[in-house]
Amino acid sequence: MDLYCVFGNPIKHSRSPFIHQQFALQTGQNIDYQTKLVELTAFEKAVKTFIAQGGKGANVTVPFKEQALQLCDQISVRAQQAGAVNTLSFIDNRIVGDNTDGIGLIADLKNHNISLMNQRILIIGAGGAAKGIIQPLLIEKPSLLVIANRTLEKAEAIVAQHNSSNLFASSYAALSQQSFDLIINATSASLSGLLPDIPAQVITCNTICYDMVYQQEITVFLQWAKQQGAKKIIDGLGMLVEQAAESFYIWRGVKPQTDEVLIQLRNKLIMN
Ligand code: NDP
Repeated sequence: MDLYCVFGNPIKHSRSPFIHQQFALQTGQNIDYQTKLVELTAFEKAVKTFIAQGGKGANVTVPFKEQALQLCDQISVRAQQAGAVNTLSFIDNRIVGDNTDGIGLIADLKNHNISLMNQRILIIGAGGAAKGIIQPLLIEKPSLLVIANRTLEKAEAIVAQHNSSNLFASSYAALSQQSFDLIINATSASLSGLLPDIPAQVITCNTICYDMVYQQEITVFLQWAKQQGAKKIIDGLGMLVEQAAESFYIWRGVKPQTDEVLIQLRNKLIMN
C-alpha cells in the first residue's frame, strides 16, 4: 500500500483523506492517505520523516505552501508561477513540487459552465491562493483581471511578476466605479465570518460570485453577494475536489471522476 498525507496546521477538519480514499476506491488504487499536524517550525522535519517512512507523496496546506516550495529539488512551471506548492511527489530521493489550486479552480468554473474568455474578472485577496490562480485565469483570456487586496502592495507585487496588459492591481476603494462578470473571493475573511470591505457596485445582476472558502452554511461573502443581486453564487468545495483530482493524477497517473465525490462531500458537510 502506498502512503500519502496532507501536511498542515490546523489539519483536523481536512476533507482530503475522504476525497483521496474515494478516488482510490473508484480507480482501484491501493493507497493510504492521512492528515499530519505539523508544528509551525517543523515542516522540513515532518516531510523528511514521512519520506523515511516510505511516503510517496503529500499535499501541503496552510501555512506551509511557501515553505514547501523551498524544500523541493524540482518544481513545475505552475508552482513557480504561483510561488507555492500544494503537491509533493517523492521520486528517487528527490522532492518534486507542483501546484494544482489554479487548475482546480478553472475545472470547477468549467463544471459550472462559466466562460472566462473576454470576461471582466475580479480577484479579492493576494495571498497564496490568489497567486496560484492568476496564471491559469490569464490563460483563459479574460478581457480584464483585477486583483484587489486590503494590503494594496501585495496585489501590486503579484501584478509586477506577470507580464500581462490585462492584469491590474487595485485598492478596495478604487473599485467603486467598476463592475465585473466574475468575482472570486480568494481571501480567508469568510473563515472568520468577515466581509472584505469592497464596494457593492462591483456586483450587477449578471455577476457570478465565487468564494474559495466552503462551509456548512453559505459563507458571509456569498450571502452578501446574493443580497446585492448576483446572478449566481458558488463556494470552493468543487475547487477542493478538483485540485485533489489533479494531485491524484500526478501521483497515480489516473484521473478520477469528481462529480460523485463532490456530491458525497457536500452531503457530509451538510450532515456535520
Ligand atoms: P493567505 O493567508 O495567504 O492570504 C489571506 C488573504 O486574505 C490575504 O490577501 C489577506 O489580506 C486576506 N484577508 C484576510 N482576512 C481579511 C479580511 N478580514 N478582510 C479582507 N481581506 C482579508 O491565505 P491563502 O491565500 O492561502 O488562502 C485564502 C483562502 O482560500 C483560505 O480561506 C483557504 O481556505 C482558501 N483556499 C481554498 C481552496 C479550495 O480548494 N477551495 C484552495 C486554497 C485556498 P492582507 O494581505 O491584507 O492581509
